[in-house]
Amino acid sequence: MERKRQVILWTGWAILCPVILAATYHLWPPSFAGNMTDLILFFILMCLVCFKPIIVNDTPIFFVEGVALAVFIYFGVFAEMLMMQISTVLVMLSLRVGLKQHYRYATNSLMFLLVCLLGGVFYESVSGQHGKVEFSLGFLLNVIGYSLVVWSVNHCLLHMARLYLYQRKDRFFTKDFWWEIFSSVMVLPVGIILYLLYAQLGMPAILYVGIPMVTLGVILNLYYSSQRVNGYLQQAAEIGKQLTERLEEDEVLNVFHEKMTAMFPVDYAYIIDIVDHSRFKIIRTLENGAVRESGLESFPIEQGISGYTYRTQKGVLVKKRSGREEFGHSLLPESVESVISVPIIRSQEVTGIVLFTSNKKRAYENYQLMIVELLTAHLGVAIENARSHAHTKEQSIRCSLTKLYNYRYLEKSLQDEFALLRKHPDRILSLVILDIDHFKSINDTYGHQAGNEVLSQLARRLERFTGDRGTVYRYGGEEFVILLPEMEKNACFAFAEGVRNEIASTPFLLEQDMNETKSRAAVPITASIGIAAALEDADDELSLIRHADRAMYVGAKQAGRNKVAGYGR
Ligand code: GH3
Ligand code: MG
Ligand code: MG
Repeated sequence: MERKRQVILWTGWAILCPVILAATYHLWPPSFAGNMTDLILFFILMCLVCFKPIIVNDTPIFFVEGVALAVFIYFGVFAEMLMMQISTVLVMLSLRVGLKQHYRYATNSLMFLLVCLLGGVFYESVSGQHGKVEFSLGFLLNVIGYSLVVWSVNHCLLHMARLYLYQRKDRFFTKDFWWEIFSSVMVLPVGIILYLLYAQLGMPAILYVGIPMVTLGVILNLYYSSQRVNGYLQQAAEIGKQLTERLEEDEVLNVFHEKMTAMFPVDYAYIIDIVDHSRFKIIRTLENGAVRESGLESFPIEQGISGYTYRTQKGVLVKKRSGREEFGHSLLPESVESVISVPIIRSQEVTGIVLFTSNKKRAYENYQLMIVELLTAHLGVAIENARSHAHTKEQSIRCSLTKLYNYRYLEKSLQDEFALLRKHPDRILSLVILDIDHFKSINDTYGHQAGNEVLSQLARRLERFTGDRGTVYRYGGEEFVILLPEMEKNACFAFAEGVRNEIASTPFLLEQDMNETKSRAAVPITASIGIAAALEDADDELSLIRHADRAMYVGAKQAGRNKVAGYGR
């Protein structure tokens, strides 16, 4: 809420609160004589039921309304008004409304003043009876009428507050509306029974009704919190399943981050990777609702709560800011109050850390830490799986000797490129194929191992020369292919000439250890090169290779080797 509205609200409160209280006192003077102990007992009961509201579908149901009703009928508007004021503050404290939302105290205080006042006006005008009232249908109708007025005024004021103070455009008849009716209908008879019993028996009635009321509150609270844990566990199972279904590490991290931050109240969330056992690197960040991939921030491993988590390999739950101090210097924003920090553990080693924070005090419970730990274990396995999947995939598309892409991957790249070419016929794809000249004699002279060394060195040379103009593949034994998307055939010709020169101009240096003497040999090598371009020379993958190969064989090898030849030239 903006500052101006907050000032208006508190000013209105400062004026209206004393005026309404004083007016009520004068209009309907209360008589508490001899009943002070009972009033205090009623008040204690109110406090007890306030701290354990029954929460159904996120709507707190307060038996406090029932106690207030009994107090109202017996002691009058002023007593009810005072008690409601104090209990409102208590309810909000129990719901952990902090200082940052101080205006909510003013809003609620004002609302209940008006609700009590208007309810009082109604009751005084139809009945006005307090203390011991003879039970009759008329009395019952008056009480029901009073409750209806209180309830309607309350709802209208709430709606107006949402609309004008919090600028929330809610509908008038929301789901909460029906829950509120339900809760009021449930609480009304309890209030009437409390009143009737108190009128008959006096003080013991407060205990007779109060004890079961509070007990019920506690039991329902336990039930509700176990329901909540259940709900969390179900979500956790679903997230766990989704994590194991993802094969890319990036996706795993995204799913985890998105689902977890949707499931928990989070202001800042980080997934931290550990680099070389010495530094933390933040790889996912959520700050004020915006997720971003981050890879820049890196900080020493000893630091703060994550440092503690790293050292102890244990999850940490911090409930308020002062609890953060024992972990030393922290890089978390000042505003952070609650923290959950959990290690990602693989083979007894911490490989990362998951950190959730909230600006609210006591935002997380122990069971939430447990669920984060559970899902972080899933995350660890999912990351491991994704990495080994990536490794296997990488292995299946690369040749182990030269580390270049292999023939299988060349086939796939060609298919992809041709799919693009067919969609956009003005695109170009050039292909270079090269075969080392007289490679057999290199093997024969220097040994097979030396031949392998040449192939590896040549692979690096080709990659360096090609740069980001294209991709180098090992096509077969001593044959290589370079795919050059977007390169015209003429440019490709010049490129291939460059490749030829790159190979022929500098001999390859080999460690030689024949006859048990180590020496370095400089081995000059040449290659014959053929080129073809699509769609100019070929309209499918196989013919493009075949035509380049044909050019290489006829135009370069047969023409004397160490040459470049283009298809159709
Ligand atoms: P040219 O191409 O000029 O006609 O002569 P060449 O000697 O290169 O002829 P060919 O293509 O018939 O022979 C290729 C030789 O390459 C045969 C084989 O011993 C060798 N070779 C193929 N793969 C490897 C390999 O992985 N390592 C080594 N060391 N040699 C290989
Ligand atoms: Mg060959
Ligand atoms: Mg050859």
